Amino acid sequence: NDLASMMDVSVNDVISACMSLGLFVSINQRLDAETISIVAEEFGFETEFVDSEDQESVEEEEDKPEDLVERYPIVTVMGHVDHGKTSLLDYVRKANVIAGEAGGITQHIGAYNVELDSGKKITFLDTPGHEAFTAMRARGAQVTDIAIIVIATDDNVMPQTKEAINHAQAAGVPIVFALNKVDRPAANPDKIREELSQMNILVEEWGGKFQAQEISAKTGQGVEDLLEKVLLEAELLEVKANPNKNGVGTVIESELDKGRGYVSTLLVQSGTVRMGDVVLAGPHYGKVKAMFNERGQKITEAGPSMPFSLLGLSGAPNAGDKFRVMDDEKEAKNIATKRLQLQREQGVRTKKHITLDEIGRRIAIGDFQELNVIIKGDVDGSIEALSDSLLKLSTDQIQVNVIHKSVGQISESDVMLAAASDAIIVGFQVRPSVNARKVAEREEIDIRLYSIIYAAIDEIKAAMEGMLAAKI
Ligand code: GDP
Repeated sequence: NDLASMMDVSVNDVISACMSLGLFVSINQRLDAETISIVAEEFGFETEFVDSEDQESVEEEEDKPEDLVERYPIVTVMGHVDHGKTSLLDYVRKANVIAGEAGGITQHIGAYNVELDSGKKITFLDTPGHEAFTAMRARGAQVTDIAIIVIATDDNVMPQTKEAINHAQAAGVPIVFALNKVDRPAANPDKIREELSQMNILVEEWGGKFQAQEISAKTGQGVEDLLEKVLLEAELLEVKANPNKNGVGTVIESELDKGRGYVSTLLVQSGTVRMGDVVLAGPHYGKVKAMFNERGQKITEAGPSMPFSLLGLSGAPNAGDKFRVMDDEKEAKNIATKRLQLQREQGVRTKKHITLDEIGRRIAIGDFQELNVIIKGDVDGSIEALSDSLLKLSTDQIQVNVIHKSVGQISESDVMLAAASDAIIVGFQVRPSVNARKVAEREEIDIRLYSIIYAAIDEIKAAMEGMLAAKI
């Protein structure tokens, strides 16, 4: 009965679902965790078991406006291969060794923090590319405040540039464009502005809302200005956090170091982590034994937007796992143990993503308002035609969004975007790559392949009207 009302379906439906699993249950019977998961999944729900002590209440708790202070923006660098992402990250890392500070950024810990001449700071995630960005998002972590998209001005807006733009926009992350390699004789930044405008992206100089800065990641020309623009964007966003509470954030990476044990890089998103704190990170926990910044220096605390590497956890949490400081070590241990148990019981839990077959049912129970679609096709013309027709399928109850469309095979990156945005993938006259197929299976992403446009439209329309299930 409780489960039925939580899902807003009739008790009889839940009972029949149990019966189809070979369980004959009564209305007041308590179900075990596994049965609840399976039954809920039947109705399109993902189950999360919240222990009474395991509520993410620390995060949920609204901070009072007066407790919020500005924090540094957290930035990811994306763009087409060879357009200069790594060079930009390297330049920023080297150029911003704060005067008087011993040593530069020597350690790769997955993120670093730099200070500009103005005294303001920015945190960079040190793994360039939208793949890393979207993989984290698919794990439920959104860490990035602002994306820098690098475009080489002696080249063109390339497929991966478009992908990066779409991935950032699907995440609702503002973009600052770095028009790179302006030191090269063949550089033509206006050509890039023009190509962007054809994608409906107007840069500020041309009266649009997107900030763009000409730079050379090689000579450093314009880089400081680029970072100032990032800070401006951050001001508009009002990136703030409350430093005066238990630290909460996301795991950036972890490894097992032979000499030191488990080493994880954590990025604090709000609150503060201190030496001696008990940290719960995914299914692992531990007392903070040592903390280091990206310069390899020992630190004793880390506040909002600060990345640090941590010694002391009982294992290696995954990139994208949430962490939080706990008041009570025993409680942390209990929750970690339960999470490990759950993981073992259920295998690696993947989020249940939307499938075409499920759409009708979810609309019927009022649980579904937006259908996100990624379209890949063999030629531009058919992609546009398909995209236009699908957008027109939107109704009062359900809005169709095409979050990414491009020419080419269905790639792993398309599948990760689908996982992060809960989208289905429609392929027109194209197929998924071997890797894309594997990831789609793991992440349970629905890929539909068509060779006739109206067949695609008909099937999606039928799904939205709840007819598809009836046909099977
Ligand atoms: P990524 O694949 O986007 O990370 O690109 P890289 O940073 O590896 O850069 C690709 C190539 O372009 C390298 O040979 C860089 O030295 C070169 N490069 C990057 N930025 C600039 C620039 O501003 N000017 C010039 N002349 N070369 C650059």
